[in-house]
Amino acid sequence: MTVPRTIAIDGPAASGKSTLGQILAQHFGYLYFDTGILYRAVTYLALRLGYDLADGAALAELAASTVFRVETPTVDDGRQYTVLANGEDVTWALRSAQVERNVSQVSCHPAVRAALREQQRQIGIAGRVVMAGRDIGAVIMPDADLKIYLDASVEERARRRTAELLKRGRQVDYNDVLADLSRRDQADSINTYVAPDAVALKTDGRTPEELFRAVLHMIEA
Ligand code: C5P
Repeated sequence: MTVPRTIAIDGPAASGKSTLGQILAQHFGYLYFDTGILYRAVTYLALRLGYDLADGAALAELAASTVFRVETPTVDDGRQYTVLANGEDVTWALRSAQVERNVSQVSCHPAVRAALREQQRQIGIAGRVVMAGRDIGAVIMPDADLKIYLDASVEERARRRTAELLKRGRQVDYNDVLADLSRRDQADSINTYVAPDAVALKTDGRTPEELFRAVLHMIEA
């Protein structure tokens, strides 16, 4: 079996990218890098600093001048990694409803995407990485050894996201989550790609363990 050095996982919000990505990264001893945190961090900083979210050039400058770091957590509060933006711990701030509602407006600016592209590419070039996002297999790591596109019905994804948020103590309603996800799917669709050489997997009704086994099987075959 040839073990892939670089694995790209793309797909819409709550399709299971993080769960599968982290299992694969742990299995191979690779870095797991969730590129959504970059767009979320720029959105969080922009909102806090009062940026106009329609101003792509200013947002791109903010993205380019921010130093992002992802570290192994030293705090035991359910986080899977710690995200630092200019040294500030923004891990949970990135998950707020406000960031989630505005992130697509920030990520749709080509200048913002260009500003974040190089940082992502450098991580890809280093190899031994599982990178998750929307455009990884098509734009960021077009030479990735393995490309996976995960998808699930919006209802299934809304159920998962609702359960996850309730577990974290957020008061949320399934119908609101469903509406938010549908809106984000629509806004993100322009920058979401299924690479032609990606393996598409439907995750409805399948456990992360089953998906992991399916991917291992594919690699072995
Ligand atoms: O994956 P996650 O839902 O955390 O991503 C947050 C947002 O970041 C997405 O809704 C999308 O707008 C943006 N994003 C993107 N390209 C990526 C990863 C995320 O545009 N590669």
